[in-house]
Amino acid sequence: MLGNIYEKEYQANAIAIKYKRNTITYEQLDKTIKQYSNLLHQLGVTAGERVLLSCPNAPEFIYSYLGVVKNAGIIVPVNQQLTLEEISYFIRDAEARFMLIHPDVLQKLKHDQDSLQKLLGVKVIILDDEFHMAVAASSPEVVEKFVDEQAVSTFLYTSGTTGKPKAAMLTHKNLLTNAEQCRLAFQGTARDNYMCVLPMFHVFGFTTCVLNPLLSGATVTIIEKFQPKEVIESLLKDGVTVFMGVPSMYVLLLEACKKNITFPGLRLAVSGGAALPVEVLRQAKDILKLPVVEGYGLTEASPVVCFNPLDGVKKEGSIGLPIPFEACKIVDEYDRELGVGEVGELVAQGENIMLGYYKQEEATREALKHGWLHTGDLAKKDEDGYIYIVDRKKDLIITGGLNVYPREVEEVIYRYPKVKEAAVVGIGDKLRGEYVKAFIVLKDGETCTAKEMTRYLKEHLSVYKIPRAYEFIAELPKNSSGKILKRELIR
Ligand code: AMP
Repeated sequence: MLGNIYEKEYQANAIAIKYKRNTITYEQLDKTIKQYSNLLHQLGVTAGERVLLSCPNAPEFIYSYLGVVKNAGIIVPVNQQLTLEEISYFIRDAEARFMLIHPDVLQKLKHDQDSLQKLLGVKVIILDDEFHMAVAASSPEVVEKFVDEQAVSTFLYTSGTTGKPKAAMLTHKNLLTNAEQCRLAFQGTARDNYMCVLPMFHVFGFTTCVLNPLLSGATVTIIEKFQPKEVIESLLKDGVTVFMGVPSMYVLLLEACKKNITFPGLRLAVSGGAALPVEVLRQAKDILKLPVVEGYGLTEASPVVCFNPLDGVKKEGSIGLPIPFEACKIVDEYDRELGVGEVGELVAQGENIMLGYYKQEEATREALKHGWLHTGDLAKKDEDGYIYIVDRKKDLIITGGLNVYPREVEEVIYRYPKVKEAAVVGIGDKLRGEYVKAFIVLKDGETCTAKEMTRYLKEHLSVYKIPRAYEFIAELPKNSSGKILKRELIR
């Protein structure tokens, strides 16, 4: 089961975690997780209890997560930047009775334990020095509890394709399967060292950079927050062999690496979580001398679904092939499979696919129709079976009855040398239904006008795809995993 994931390739003295100049061996990790598990059990965290976890990237995140699921509890990791109102929504929705919180998060919320307990109606456990003294005094001998692999281990809140955040229920088996699928796809071994700079509360970070390395007996190098300088330093010094990032991290790394730096230890750099503009991929090859390999996934799939095979051909702009033990199809609105080059919805099947959304039967039925996870992403495949994400179904812009895929326009804008980042959205319009608008961040010191951009785009795109409006802005709004928040741009 998930709480014992690190036991498969267990080597007592191997380094499990590197964090702020400290190293934690597998033996220490095992002991601490068992002590966490026992202490949490004494505090009432038993089978089926939902436990909110609000903690930045740190070893405590891993101990808490695995300690809770070892007790057959259900962990509900949340973004530590949430407001009290948002936390309260998750607590009510998940019917959680416990919250594990890092002292820094508590301080930012401007509350103490008592006031927070009263306000949220849960038992608040602070991961502070006092708690850690109790952990150290707790028994490292776990009374083995029976945990059904098909039981839910994790609630992960996601907006899915529409609506309010829903809890995707991931079982022990779902996450174990995806960790194993990642190990196979990334050709992971115990010699690897994964940098975990993606937020752990997001399943992309937790599965690929924590569960997957722990399953392989590899090392997790934890970085709390993405800062290009610190990341570059760590890549050079900590023996990192695998880096996982979202596209915006690569954009920032490229900017920070203007003078050619090479990372000799790095064997693999992966991009996922959002479309990697082909131009960024090329620059990464040129400047960082890194072949960035693109993959694709979503929370509901624990999360990885596709990846460009390491031994096979890697195609620019493609998310690759389904990972081992995963099946994918592209279907029309009646769920009929489409052929090469036809655009439809990407659907996926495998042991990594969630059980459903908590208390959301209708949304679950929709998402898991006919036994396939409906991703809400539009895609097409080529004659070799490589899949290309065209766009999210809901981001599609329909202007005057014509379909515009924002991604296509963004890719062309990214190629303009003055551009650092871009996002294209549809804005409501009485006449056309929607019109195309581009938000553009220019590289430092560059200037550009709407006229200049239109002139350039006209050389590459049909007229109806050319934005009617532009906004040159300093920064694009992003969530804490670095994904561009298009909804905020439309507001
Ligand atoms: P989340 O559930 O927050 O991980 O978001 C999943 C969504 O991110 C997917 O449904 C896609 O829309 C998007 N996504 C993830 N990876 C890629 C990729 N490589 N290319 C394009 N979109 C992606």
